Amino acid sequence: MAVERPTLRVCALYPTLMNIYADRGNLLMLERRCRWRGIAFELSGAGIGEGLDERADLYYIGGGQDRDQALCAQDLHTHKREQLRTAAQRGAVVLGVCGGYQLLGHDYQLGDEHLPGVGLLDLRTVRGDGPRLIGNVAIEVELPRAGTRILAGFENHGGRTRLGPEAQPLGRVLKGHGNDGESGHEGARSGSVLGTYLHGPLLPKNAWFADWLIESALGLELPLAPLDDTLEELAHADARRAAGL
Ligand code: GLN
Repeated sequence: MAVERPTLRVCALYPTLMNIYADRGNLLMLERRCRWRGIAFELSGAGIGEGLDERADLYYIGGGQDRDQALCAQDLHTHKREQLRTAAQRGAVVLGVCGGYQLLGHDYQLGDEHLPGVGLLDLRTVRGDGPRLIGNVAIEVELPRAGTRILAGFENHGGRTRLGPEAQPLGRVLKGHGNDGESGHEGARSGSVLGTYLHGPLLPKNAWFADWLIESALGLELPLAPLDDTLEELAHADARRAAGL
């Protein structure tokens, strides 16, 4: 009997509006690492006014300028929040990067403007008066199956994010600013929902994390077969070096 080929279904939210600093590259990285292992890959997009693919294994929201983010926040809250919550409840992976991360929290206060979030992560973001938090960053993360690992990337955000008691940080800042420049926390995680400020591009610089996401989204018991990651390891080492690690 033929064994059915596994398929990773990814749904990108606002792929044109929330798409700065290599968010497209993150999706390509997932695609390539699946295809190289014979795992089929399907990508759908959900823009303003569009519903989500309810069968997706992984939902992705990238980064955005405040202006684009404001457009998406209202739509996300009104049209996609319940679908996204249902997906998270069935264990689908939800990954938000930078602006997308902020929108997974309760809200983002931008001066007089209040952007609602979906409340999947217990956190709030406020646009501070201080400078933007910009630069290369490295964090130490501890994830089920992965143990203690390093993520390296680039951050550029005006918002300061503070975690509530229900959210655990994704990682501990080793170099860079992280969520608010003072807590020592970077990103957040609650079950299968994860958010981070690391752009630049997050997954091509951290191939191990791309694999961890694929394994988690597919609910695999065993790690994926290793690939020749010579170039990926150089990219990771370079990102760590840029952060001063
Ligand atoms: N607009 C948000 C901020 O500046 C997020 C920016 C981003 O996604 N790079 O805080």
